[in-house]
Amino acid sequence: AKRQGRNRFAYFAPAMHAGLVEKLDLAEDLRGAIERHELEVYYQPLVDLDDGAIVGAEALVRWAHPEKGYIAPDRFIPLAEETGLILPLGYEVLNTACRAAAGWRHPVPLRISVNLSPRQVQDPALVLYVRQTLLHSGLPAESLTLEITESLLSEDAEVAANRLAELKALGVRLAVDDFGTGYSSLSRLHAFPIDILKIPKPFVDGVAHGPEQAALARAIVDLAVALGLDVVAEGIEDAAQCAELRRLGCTVGQGFLFSRPVPRPQFDKLLSQGALV
Ligand code: C2E
Ligand code: CA
Ligand code: CA
Repeated sequence: AKRQGRNRFAYFAPAMHAGLVEKLDLAEDLRGAIERHELEVYYQPLVDLDDGAIVGAEALVRWAHPEKGYIAPDRFIPLAEETGLILPLGYEVLNTACRAAAGWRHPVPLRISVNLSPRQVQDPALVLYVRQTLLHSGLPAESLTLEITESLLSEDAEVAANRLAELKALGVRLAVDDFGTGYSSLSRLHAFPIDILKIPKPFVDGVAHGPEQAALARAIVDLAVALGLDVVAEGIEDAAQCAELRRLGCTVGQGFLFSRPVPRPQFDKLLSQGALV
């Protein structure tokens, strides 16, 4: 069996090797891009579904590779997580986003949402870093929402639970991204200081296709109401979805119906225009 294993290894090695080299190259490029501050932060408006008013934004990182063009976050974020580059990347995004949000002039205080990867939550320096970023940017803690993944809420997540409690103590808000798509124990939801559940796009897609398809989105809204949490829908693409989400009791959302994620100058322009519908 051992020999067979070796043969198998020999057979797959060239392809694996090529893939690995490409990955390492990309990781090296990413490291350079982070060091040279070449990553950009785009902002997607969070909108009051009743009147289209902008109530905040989600910060989403963008990487324009000098030769390969824009590379999707779904490709380089997992790579950044594997290599540990997610720490400097994540801090850069947090810093940029908080500074931008602190400068937004608007009748109501705007919220800024920043994605945190599990690896960042494991980082002992995270809480201090968030505190200093708030201090240096001048952004009020309650204006910052940190979006975490559902996998952090699984059974043996004691480090995560403690870390989230420390973050919460700073006064920031915590949202669970793509709620209902990963594993989490509903019975343990109350053990975490969560403020917001985000309805994932696939559930939003189904919402205008009858009660059965809408059941998942409805279940999240009902759960949020029962637990006293806010709920935010992502990936709203048409007016029918928006109307149906409002009917279910969801009051805040984001999606191409309102705006794609845009660079900061364009977001500032959207702000000055007021409502997005
Ligand atoms: P996510 O956090 O679930 O972000 C929402 C994604 O849905 C974004 O993709 C956004 O552009 C896209 N989206 C928003 N509205 C619509 C819509 O109406 N239709 C469609 N088709 N898509 C919509 P994006 O920017 O490509 O990011 C993908 C994922 O990469 C994010 O998913 C997030 O998990 C991760 N990511 C992005 N930026 C960061 C970051 O700064 N840090 C970390 N840790 N992860 C990030
Ligand atoms: Ca998110
Ligand atoms: Ca999502």
